[in-house]
Amino acid sequence: MIILDGKKIKDKVLDELRYEVAKLPLKPNLVVIQVGDNEASNIYINQKQKMALYIGYGFKHLKFNADINETDLLLEINKLNNDMEVHGILVQMPLPSHIDPSIIQNAIDYKKDVDGLTDINAGKLLHGKDALFPCTPLGVMRLLDEYNISVSGKNAVIVGRSDLVGKPMAVMLSKAGATVSICHSKTKNLEKYTLLADILVVAVGKIGLITSDMVHDGAVVIDVGINKCDDKICGDVCFDEVKNKASYISPVPFGVGQMTVAMLGVNVLKAFNMQRNM
Ligand code: NAD
Repeated sequence: MIILDGKKIKDKVLDELRYEVAKLPLKPNLVVIQVGDNEASNIYINQKQKMALYIGYGFKHLKFNADINETDLLLEINKLNNDMEVHGILVQMPLPSHIDPSIIQNAIDYKKDVDGLTDINAGKLLHGKDALFPCTPLGVMRLLDEYNISVSGKNAVIVGRSDLVGKPMAVMLSKAGATVSICHSKTKNLEKYTLLADILVVAVGKIGLITSDMVHDGAVVIDVGINKCDDKICGDVCFDEVKNKASYISPVPFGVGQMTVAMLGVNVLKAFNMQRNM
């Protein structure tokens, strides 16, 4: 069994980006918008800032009070869309309940949408066009690639069908030649599907969802889940038992989460280059 070391691959990706960015005549700039003061968001934004500064990007954190209204937030996004010095815009989720995340996400210029979550970029992914794509599934694909795990002709099973992870993951794996099944909260007999998986990607947010009897010998198991377990974080897969069956397995922490941050770094440079080549 081999552990898919997200931390090691992230460091490699960040060094590659740092090298590329040092050669640029201008600095790519990333702006992260936060509304309110969610504790987990503060941690995620710190990680993004650390990544951006390491690579050599400019980084701005715009923090608004939780009572900002949707119209004012849209005006702020519009200003950033029109600012030629801003190349990537990201709105940290969750937003307060009086703000519609889809409206906010889609207000971002698709060329600056480094989270890859606008309808335009989601459509481009579906139609096989190059664009900015969601960081977590991109990170999973990069992890598979770095470990030379072939995807073509494999049975890939994804548990979870969110716009952020499950759906784009399914499109990417299908494009890479896998036969893809998508499971979700309404799936009956989950193990019937997971047992067929050569590549199993789990993105649900439920501790202990995947046990060793749900995985076939030699499967590649990718755990996207992030859950709080006492004072630590853990994934959706029972790592200690599933690792004895898997050929490759990603740990939580230091697996996919690391790759997500790395792929944000990749998307910022891609957005910068897309805007310069227009
Ligand atoms: P989400 O809540 O939007 O979606 C969860 C999905 O799980 C839904 O499609 C739902 O149908 C499915 N589901 C729920 N219960 C199920 C069950 N019992 N069996 C099968 N499917 C079930 O979540 P999300 O945004 O996709 O995130 C999923 C998990 O991944 C969370 O733990 C989140 O914190 C984590 N996450 C991690 C990263 C990372 O970088 N590692 C990035 C994004 C999300």
